[in-house]
Amino acid sequence: MGLDYSRGSCLLGFDSHFFLAAFLFTMTIELSTPVQSLYMIGPTYARRLKKLEIETVEDLFNHFPFRYEDYSLISKIGLVQPGEKVTIQGIVKEIKNEYTKHGKKIQKAVVADETGEIDAVWYNQPFLIKNIHREDKINLSGEVNWFGHTLILETPQYEVLKPGYETIHTGRLVPIYPETSGVTSKWLRSRIAPLLKQCADKFIEYLSYSIVRENNLLDFATSLKQIHFPQNRKIAKLARERLAFDELLFIQLSSLIRKAQWQKEVVGNKFQISNFKDQIQEFFKKLPFLLTKAQRRCVSEILTDLGSPRPMNRLLQGDVGSGKTVVAAIAMYLAYLNNFQSALMAPTEILAQQHYETIAKLLGPLGVKVGLQTKTSKATSQLANQLTRKPTNQQTSHIIVGTHALLSEKLEFQRLGLVVIDEQHRFGVEQRTTLRKKGINPHLLTLTATPIPRSVALTLYGELDLSYIDEMPKGRLKIKTWLVPAEKRQAAYEWIKKQLKKDQVFIICPLIEESLVETMLSVRAATTEYQRLQKEIFPKSRLGLLHGRLKSKEKEKVLGDFRQNKLEILVATPVVEVGIDIPNATIMMIETAERFGLAQLHQLRGRVGRREKQSYCLLFSESDKSQNRLKALETIYNGAELAELDLKLRGPGDVFGIRQHGFLNLKVASLTDYVLIDKAKKAAGKILREDASLGRFSLLKEKLKKYTIRKVAPD
Ligand code: ADP
Ligand code: MG
Repeated sequence: MGLDYSRGSCLLGFDSHFFLAAFLFTMTIELSTPVQSLYMIGPTYARRLKKLEIETVEDLFNHFPFRYEDYSLISKIGLVQPGEKVTIQGIVKEIKNEYTKHGKKIQKAVVADETGEIDAVWYNQPFLIKNIHREDKINLSGEVNWFGHTLILETPQYEVLKPGYETIHTGRLVPIYPETSGVTSKWLRSRIAPLLKQCADKFIEYLSYSIVRENNLLDFATSLKQIHFPQNRKIAKLARERLAFDELLFIQLSSLIRKAQWQKEVVGNKFQISNFKDQIQEFFKKLPFLLTKAQRRCVSEILTDLGSPRPMNRLLQGDVGSGKTVVAAIAMYLAYLNNFQSALMAPTEILAQQHYETIAKLLGPLGVKVGLQTKTSKATSQLANQLTRKPTNQQTSHIIVGTHALLSEKLEFQRLGLVVIDEQHRFGVEQRTTLRKKGINPHLLTLTATPIPRSVALTLYGELDLSYIDEMPKGRLKIKTWLVPAEKRQAAYEWIKKQLKKDQVFIICPLIEESLVETMLSVRAATTEYQRLQKEIFPKSRLGLLHGRLKSKEKEKVLGDFRQNKLEILVATPVVEVGIDIPNATIMMIETAERFGLAQLHQLRGRVGRREKQSYCLLFSESDKSQNRLKALETIYNGAELAELDLKLRGPGDVFGIRQHGFLNLKVASLTDYVLIDKAKKAAGKILREDASLGRFSLLKEKLKKYTIRKVAPD
């Protein structure tokens, strides 16, 4: 791309073209150069870029546009049509600031070519007259509209042209990037373009010629340039496909490598099963319910693993309330019978506490000692001491339930044989490894309620064995779900008021921004909503507020009060943990439902309806577009099916609230592109068959390493 940076630098609003260009070309820039050390970025922008996970030059290149604005139609001024998206090329006849009647500053330019003249207007950008001068040759891209009886261009993109300069904002397919506050697509374009040019010799093909050819892939260097600044739609698509292929290939390669490593391992001690048949039968008999068929199938899959000489690495998936805990409890019981300890790690204190109680109730009567290890559990040091003693000692816990406090170095296990992790996406690979290292190759069982379609699970979790509890315990009533139209909001509040005599209610506040951690903005919005509801809607009721910024103690108090029915309504932020079992809570009201994935909504509504009482879920949404999608929740009650539907309707990027979960955050690849997934899978197999250590593919190995470090690896 003949992109002459020194001439284009005026676009950046700098006057000293020469200085910037000279500076850029004297500084050596590597792919690993941190962005803050670039003259054209600096610390302030580096901080902003971090929000987009951009820290190095390479990250900047890997920040791909999600679409292109098509300004490739270059039209003569005399021929432009109203409503048309065009680029016109002409000479600036006039440019000036003007004041409107209301005292607002607007910028007005007259641009002419041999066929006519057109006005362009911008609002409140007084610096424009410094960038655009009379007699400049200029490109303007935008939509042509009527203004009274004349055609104008309103706030068009502009680019002053110099000989040999290739445009990046106008007259072409213009990349539109994921942005963050203070970082616009225009800003990104003007940084990425010159850097791409400068680093051109650093983009080296790392796939073998045969893989590139067999899969009809574009070469790497071309793909990277074309995905940012494509010549046309066709090549943009090819570039995207190549980079998507790479992304899927990396996922498959890292899964296959992990699987191979796992298979080389041998468990510290294989569990005996046949000796303990009677005890296990006894356990089943003592349960207050019969296991469902799906639960029994999963138990038998898990027991088979536990009895084998290789460590289990299994994902147990099942909707909220499908009864995963009891299945895990059986595995832990078998560990106990084999004289092994188990650890059960939950993502939050509330959940750890709840699991502790459940497990103690289930297994305590059978002689199993259950301990709790959380940041605030007083027993911490005492428990750690106990654990270093012999496991046969009566004082010792056989099962320790906890939060990531279980990872503490102080905590040692004597004979850790089984690790159970609840809600795996909340923990990173390292955390899981740390816990497993506390034993000698213990078995690993991961529980998840995130409904991942089977196709996706097989792609992302290639190295895991999967068990599905695809059936709910008998007698559960379907949670009656309604999408409530705006005009019925008041009526809905009135209905809730009536129900309050016998029911408790969750109200989930609007989702303001999707983020891994709860932001101050969300907390504030929830607080405001809580105050509004208390004052204007439910003045006579007792409301509680739950959000992530509350201290553990405060959270416990609010939840305790809700559990004991001292509060009737619990107002909560969307990201807050409400995984508590409150039998009397039967109404779930969710604001801005359109901002959630169907599977997420399904999980949220799973917080109610855990008993035989009829439960209700009321969805509110201001978006007309989403009505049909949300309506699916009124009739579909299966998490995996909803996830599959969302995958079709919204695309994989959005499905599971990725910004909350991280692990499905694919950059370019689509999880519905089965053809490409299949190609990548075959290629990964072929590469590893040729050279399992990747020793001969050093460039690829290097890439993969970087990829695995940056990515929350999906195992
Ligand atoms: P989750 O899969 O969401 O972790 P839990 O394990 O917490 O679900 O189970 C939810 C509730 O269902 C618990 O109260 C549990 O005792 C109960 N439960 C589990 N299995 C069955 C079953 N087969 N029949 C009836 N109730 C069950
Ligand atoms: Mg659970």
